[in-house]
Amino acid sequence: MTTNELLQYDRDHIWHPYTSTINPLPVYPVACAEGVTITLMDGTRLIDGMSSWWAAVHGYNHPVLNAAARAQLEKMSHVMFGGFTHEPAVELAARLLPLLPPSMDKVFFADSGSVAIEVAMKMAIQYWQSGGRPRKHKFATIQSGYHGDTWHAMSVCDPVTGMHGLFSGSLPVQYFLPQPSVRFHEPWDERAIEPLCDLLEKHADDIAALILEPIVQGAGGMYFYSPQYLVRARELCDLYGVLLIFDEIATGFGRTGKLFAWEHAGVEPDIMCVGKALTGGYMTLSATITTQPIADQICSGEAGCFMHGPTFMGNPLACAIASASISLLLASPWQEKVKRIERQLRQELAPASELPGVAEVRVLGAIGVVEMKRPVDMAVLQRRFVEEGIWVRPFGKLVYLMPPFVITSEELTRLTTGLLHVLSDQSHG
Ligand SMILES: *Cc1c(COP(=O)(O)O)cnc(C)c1O
Repeated sequence: MTTNELLQYDRDHIWHPYTSTINPLPVYPVACAEGVTITLMDGTRLIDGMSSWWAAVHGYNHPVLNAAARAQLEKMSHVMFGGFTHEPAVELAARLLPLLPPSMDKVFFADSGSVAIEVAMKMAIQYWQSGGRPRKHKFATIQSGYHGDTWHAMSVCDPVTGMHGLFSGSLPVQYFLPQPSVRFHEPWDERAIEPLCDLLEKHADDIAALILEPIVQGAGGMYFYSPQYLVRARELCDLYGVLLIFDEIATGFGRTGKLFAWEHAGVEPDIMCVGKALTGGYMTLSATITTQPIADQICSGEAGCFMHGPTFMGNPLACAIASASISLLLASPWQEKVKRIERQLRQELAPASELPGVAEVRVLGAIGVVEMKRPVDMAVLQRRFVEEGIWVRPFGKLVYLMPPFVITSEELTRLTTGLLHVLSDQSHG
C-alpha cells in the first residue's frame, strides 16, 4: 500500500476520535516514534507536545518498556482473570498501592480510563445499596470536567462540551456545580465551596458520590484550581455521608508536579481511578482503587460481590509494562524534570499572553495551556504545527503542551517556539 492508498482507505473506512466520516479532518500517517520524536511516513519528524494524551511520559519506543513487553510476551500475553491470577497483576498492585493514599487497599484492574470511571461509579452505587441506602444513586461533579466517553462517565462530563443535549432522555441527570472559582495559586475564598455546601445540604439523600479530577481539570477545560477546594470537599462529603471519587487518570504519575494530584491537598478519596500514563502510553490499562471498608460493604450486599469483570481484566502484558513504567519513573529524577519543564513552559509561553487572540496563559507541572479568545480552526492549526515540526493537538479554545518528561530543554524550546510562531501568525492573519 502506498501512503496515498493508506490515507484513502483510512478516509473511506475508519473512524477517528470526534471526527466526521463525511468531511474528516486530515490525519497524518505515522511510521514510527522514538523518544519525543514522531516520524511520519514521508520522513517528517515532529517533536511530541501531547504525550499521546497524557500517556507517554517516558517518550516512545523505550528500551526498558520494550524489554518488559518482550519478556512477558514470551510467557503469555493474556489469560483470563476469573479463577486465575499471575505475577504481573500482583506485582503491579504491590507497586501501585504504596504510591497511593494510605487508605487505598483494593485494586480493580480495568480496560481504559472510561471503564475505570464506570467501575468507580458502580462501586459507589453498590456501596450504598449494600448499606441499605438505595436512594443514593446520583452523582455530583463540577462543570468543565471530563471523565470519559462511556455512558455514565459521559453523564459527569461537562454538559455543554460533553453535549448532553444530544443524549438527553437516555443519559442520567447528575448534579453540576460551578467550577471552583479559586485558582491553584490564589488565596482561598470560602465562597468557592458554598455551592457544594448548598447541594449536599439539600440533596445528600440521593447522592452516592462527588466525582472530581483533583487540582487539574483536563480535556474539559485545562483549568487548575485550589487544593483547599479538595480539603473542604472532603470535610463536606464526610459530614453529609457522600463518597468522594478522585479521577487521577490524567493527573497521575507526576504530570502536575506531584506523583498524584491528591498530594497537593493531602486529602484522601474513597475511590480513585488511574489510567493513561499507567503503562507509560504503551497499552490501554486502568485501575479503580478503593478502601477495605468500602470493598467489604460492597461485597456484603445482596450480590455478594462487585458486579463487574472485563474479558481483558488484569491483562498480563499491560500489567508487566505498567510495572516497568512505574519503576522507570520512580528511578528517574521525574520531580526535577517536571519542575524544569514547568519553569521553561512558564518562561517561554509567557510572550503568548501578549498576542491579541490569546485570553490567558497558564502552567502547572508539565502542563502548559494557551487559552484563545475564540475556538481555533483545528485543521488549519494542526497543519501549521506540522509545518513547524511539532505535534500539538488543539481543542476548542485550548492550545496546550504536555510533553513527555524525557524532553530536553532544546526540544522543549522548539515546541514553544513553534507554538508561538503559529499562534502569532494566527493572531495577525
Ligand atoms: C482520558 C480521561 C478519561 C478517559 O480515559 P479513556 O482511557 O480515554 O477511556 C477519564 N478521565 C480523565 C480525567 C481523562 O483525562
